[in-house]
Amino acid sequence: MNKPERFRPPSVDTVLRIADGELAIARHGRAATTKAVRQVLDKLRGAGSPPSASADQIARMALDWLEEQNRPSQRPVINLTGTVLHTNLGRALLAEEAIQAVVTAMRAPTNLEYEIEAGKRGERDAHVRDLIRELTGAEDAVLVNNNASAVLLTLNTLAKDREAIVSRGELIEIGGSFRMPDIMARAGAILREVGTTNRTHLKDYAEAIGPETGLLLKVHTSNYVVQGFTAEVEPAALAKLAREHELPFVDDLGSGTLIDLARWGLRHEKTVQDALKGGADLVTFSGDKLLGGPQAGIVAGRKDLIAKLAKNPLKRALRLDKLRLAALEATLRLYRNPDRLAERLPTLRLFTRKPDELRALAERLQPTVASALGSGWTVEIIDCASQIGSGALPLETLPSAALALKPASKASGAAVESLATAFRALPLPVIGRIAQGALVFDLRCLEHEAAFGGQLPLLKPEAGDGLA
Ligand SMILES: *Cc1c(COP(=O)(O)O)cnc(C)c1O
Repeated sequence: MNKPERFRPPSVDTVLRIADGELAIARHGRAATTKAVRQVLDKLRGAGSPPSASADQIARMALDWLEEQNRPSQRPVINLTGTVLHTNLGRALLAEEAIQAVVTAMRAPTNLEYEIEAGKRGERDAHVRDLIRELTGAEDAVLVNNNASAVLLTLNTLAKDREAIVSRGELIEIGGSFRMPDIMARAGAILREVGTTNRTHLKDYAEAIGPETGLLLKVHTSNYVVQGFTAEVEPAALAKLAREHELPFVDDLGSGTLIDLARWGLRHEKTVQDALKGGADLVTFSGDKLLGGPQAGIVAGRKDLIAKLAKNPLKRALRLDKLRLAALEATLRLYRNPDRLAERLPTLRLFTRKPDELRALAERLQPTVASALGSGWTVEIIDCASQIGSGALPLETLPSAALALKPASKASGAAVESLATAFRALPLPVIGRIAQGALVFDLRCLEHEAAFGGQLPLLKPEAGDGLA
């Protein structure tokens, strides 16, 4: 029996002179590379098991480690979850026009807060204000970091130390700790709940109004519906009540679409224009939900109220930077031509992909995926239902097609989980969902077929999955 050979390492200098060592120095610098090589050597000594490792192998290991360490933390993934506006995956994808606008704004100084003709200081929100007015009919608008900020700024400006009246049926929680009562508390507003979970009447609001009232608030129940024995007050009636008491009426729309989605066969979602016509003094909505732009919060409505919001010092803390203003401006401009919107705005393009197109895509990909997985797995084409996501249109589903990956023999939850892990370990991580013992890839959001298929040979499923 051979005694295990003692590990006799090459010197650090030797490793640094190997091609991969030089490459590592060129990419990551001498100090980091030297440290990485020392680390590899220490590890090999500690492990003791490999009888030897060549200088080539050590240089390679150090380079791999450095590359891994320097990989961007935020990177592209392939969203096959079936949820188009996935908050955890970054919500709306920007239109090419918006991307170009951001790149331009990044490369050079801009007139962000400067009036070129007059040669004097200007206002950053001015770049999108007129577009919002034109598209929604609002008198004025103010832009902030996201819709949570829009609600915070509105409540803090108009209802600090006063009561904000809201129905018990609308005290929403949006995923990721946006809870209406918490935002109100942080805004310094006092929550005055009226009605019950399922039914709220006009007289509930009317009876709650008093000297302490700051505003009336309606919140779009974006991610749930109250069904059955229910009653809610029409915005027009609330608007009238608010006017009678000279109180502002605020409508938090959440997703806030600017165009009737029924035009593309989707369910009609109340638009910003609808809300303003319905009598809302202010409407708050997100930039990166149905609107299909960058993360942003928009408050649109009465000029005198918007002026108050703009003067609140919180506005400065919540303002948008030039990149997102550039992206938002370019996105809003696309709405001037609704005929081409579905082709230019990725969100709408994904919503309107036809089941036939998705099924054809599934048929093209099925053999590629099946052969990458080998005989231990079946790959079935199934009908499925995509979701809009981000709390928009919670009941609307879009008929779609998916690949369902299942173990060929007995169903094994562990095998499916580890297959999902293997897909997430690909250079472009593929994120699906697990349902009924299968890994399901809804193809609605797959636009780069080749990028998905091309990396399948790299799939390294764990042993024991029945993979060849
Ligand atoms: C999504 C949503 C919010 C929060 O918007 P963000 O842009 O995520 O900050 C607030 N209110 C409603 C009704 C929403 O749907």
